[in-house]
Amino acid sequence: MIISIVGGGATGITILRHLAELAASGRGAVTGIQLFDKCGFDGGVAYRTQSDRHLFNMKASTMSIRPGDADEFLRWLQARGLSCPGNKHLPRMVYRDYLDAVRLAAIAQCRSVGVPVHVEHAEVIRMRLSPDRDVLLTTDRNITHISSVLILCTGHNLPDDPCGLAASPNYIRDPYAQFSFADRHGLEVGILGSGLSAVDTAAALAKTHQAGRMICFSRSGLFPTVQPVTAPAIANNFRNALHRYVTSRARIEADAFATRLSEPLLETTGIRCDLSCRNVVGRCADRSRAQHHARRDR
Ligand SMILES: Cc1cc2nc3c(=O)[nH]c(=O)nc-3n(C[C@H](O)[C@H](O)[C@H](O)COP(=O)(O)OP(=O)(O)OC[C@H]3O[C@@H](n4cnc5c(N)ncnc54)[C@H](O)[C@@H]3O)c2cc1C
Repeated sequence: MIISIVGGGATGITILRHLAELAASGRGAVTGIQLFDKCGFDGGVAYRTQSDRHLFNMKASTMSIRPGDADEFLRWLQARGLSCPGNKHLPRMVYRDYLDAVRLAAIAQCRSVGVPVHVEHAEVIRMRLSPDRDVLLTTDRNITHISSVLILCTGHNLPDDPCGLAASPNYIRDPYAQFSFADRHGLEVGILGSGLSAVDTAAALAKTHQAGRMICFSRSGLFPTVQPVTAPAIANNFRNALHRYVTSRARIEADAFATRLSEPLLETTGIRCDLSCRNVVGRCADRSRAQHHARRDR
C-alpha cells in the first residue's frame, strides 16, 4: 500500500514517523510513502522563522511530538548541548531543526526496511479518485502521483488580508516569513493584533529596527495573559493519561472523549470543564435545520 502525506509540518512528520515505526515492526502493509510540501519542509507556519526573537508560546517541556514520551524534545535538546529548564520558551527556529531530525530519521528507518520514501517540494493542487479507487494527486509541476491512501496534513493557512493590503509592498502578511526594510528615523510600523504573534513580531523588530516606532492595533487593546509557571510533571501526567486513553480504544466518540478529557484535567490541574454544551453534532444539525426553515420561510 502506497501512502501519500500532503504537508510536512509537525502533523505530517508525526504521521511519517508512525508509519516508519509500523513498517520497521513488520506491522502495517505500507510498501511506499510519498511526502509533499509546498514550502520545502521548513517547519510549517509556526517554525519557519529565521529570527531568534520569535519564541514558542509553549514551554519546552510540552513540545515533544512523540505521543506517550513527553520528554523527547528535552532529550533532543540535551543531546545537542542545548539543554534548558523545561519551563523555558525557546526560539521557534530550534523546533524546525527538531522536526527535521525526526523527519530524516523516519525516512532512514523506512528505507532501512525496504520501504521507499519519495519526498517532493511541490504543492498538491488537485486530488481525485481513479476508477480503481486509487488517489491521484497532481502537483503544481503537473506531475500526477498514484497512492492507495491520502493523509492531509495541510495545517494552517496564511493569515487573512482583512484590510485588502496584499498588493502593498509595505504589507507583510506572514510575520514569520523573512522580510526586510530599512531601519530609519521616522519609521512607523503598525502591527495588526496584540496577541502572541504580535509580541513575537515586536520582539524581532526591536532587535533589527531600533530607530522606528511600533504601534499594536487590537480590539481588546490588551497583550496576552502571562502564563502561570506550572510544574512540567503536571502537563506530562495529563498528556500521558490522554495517550493511554486514546491507545486503549479502537473508536473514540467526541462526547465521551470530552468527558474523559475533563477527568485527568481536573485531576492534574484542578481545572473543571463545563460540558453543558455537549452533543455538538445534534446541535449543528438542529441549527442547519433551523437555517433551512428560515430560508424557506423568507
Ligand atoms: C503563528 C502560530 C504560532 C504557533 N506557535 C506554537 C507554539 O509555540 N507551540 C505549539 O505547540 N504550537 C504552536 N502553534 C500551533 C502549531 O502550528 C501546531 O502545533 C503545529 O505546528 C501544526 O502543524 P501542522 O503540520 O498541522 O501544520 P503546519 O505547520 O501549518 O504545516 C502544514 C504544512 O503543509 C504544507 N502544505 C499546505 N498545503 C499544501 C499543499 N496543497 N501541498 C503541499 N503542501 C502543503 C505547508 O507548506 C506546511 O508546511 C502555532 C501556530 C501558529 C499559526
